[in-house]
Amino acid sequence: MQRRKFMRMATAGICGAALPFLETAAAAPSPVVTVTGTIDASQLGLTLMHEHVLVDFIGADKVSRDRYDAEEVFRTALPHLRRVHGLGCRTLVDCTPNFLGRDAGLLARLARASGLRIVTNTGYYGARNHQYLPAHVARETPEELAARWTGEYRRGIDGTRIKPGFIKIGVDAGPLSALNAKIVDAAALAHLQTGLTIGAHTGDGAAAMEELSLLDGRGVSPEAFIWIHAQSERKTEMHVEAARRGCWVEFDGIGPRSVERHVALLQNMREAKLLHRVLISQDAGWYHVGEAGGGDYRGYDFLLTDFAPALKTAGFSEAEIKQLLIANPQRALTIRVRKKVEPRNTRK
Ligand SMILES: [Zn+2]
Repeated sequence: MQRRKFMRMATAGICGAALPFLETAAAAPSPVVTVTGTIDASQLGLTLMHEHVLVDFIGADKVSRDRYDAEEVFRTALPHLRRVHGLGCRTLVDCTPNFLGRDAGLLARLARASGLRIVTNTGYYGARNHQYLPAHVARETPEELAARWTGEYRRGIDGTRIKPGFIKIGVDAGPLSALNAKIVDAAALAHLQTGLTIGAHTGDGAAAMEELSLLDGRGVSPEAFIWIHAQSERKTEMHVEAARRGCWVEFDGIGPRSVERHVALLQNMREAKLLHRVLISQDAGWYHVGEAGGGDYRGYDFLLTDFAPALKTAGFSEAEIKQLLIANPQRALTIRVRKKVEPRNTRK
């Protein structure tokens, strides 16, 4: 179809939801970095955007690999990963950051054994009053922090050759503390150096808006940003506002008790014609370091066995569900520097 004709149709509303894809329609390579290597986004398949294999909440000053038996974690996690792979999942994004139990080598072993692709991350988690931030965050500049994260992307994590596939940060509810603002700023710089998408555990909508403003100040497009845990913001108009600005709005935490609410959140975004800006996942798992046998490990299958059928019952089409679970993760995980578009008319 000729571009101009397509544009006319799109503007007239005939193409509806197809319009927003125009901005990513260029046939550029779309690299995605997993713990077992770089692939093209088209190979991702069905993707769970926010899950965990292992988390240790002991705090940045005490966290250590000596606190768990990697073999036991491997044996505990593997059946869950195999099970969701058997249900059709092909990629799982592990959102455990450094200083909360990120173990890239273990993730790579589990990826090979389960057949699932796993994506890990770089960045720091400043939520929960900074208890998961290493001491150097207070004395380093955003540039120095960004250099650490970019270094992991260029050279590998913890002496391995495994690279992060996105930047994961965490901030509490707004207004952002100085340390939280600093790590957002560092994430913006690291994004400009690497093209890694920024996923931010975000306390509320006010914090999300502040994060977007900080990115804007560094010239980063909202498209480079995932608002993680958006479901915890009760004002659904803020989801619409953030998505209209261009960022990813992630409704994770899907589970047996949340079906109705998550379906309603998605219906709200569908009515606003913004499903192309939405990601869904469960925030499930994980081996709880410090608990006997890893404690209560919540499996990854509910979204596929129960939630996707509930979406169908609620009137979502197969294409819309695939958009949420395949097409949107492909775009969100593609490594590409996303600079903000300067307004054409700069007259003061
Ligand atoms: Zn999480």
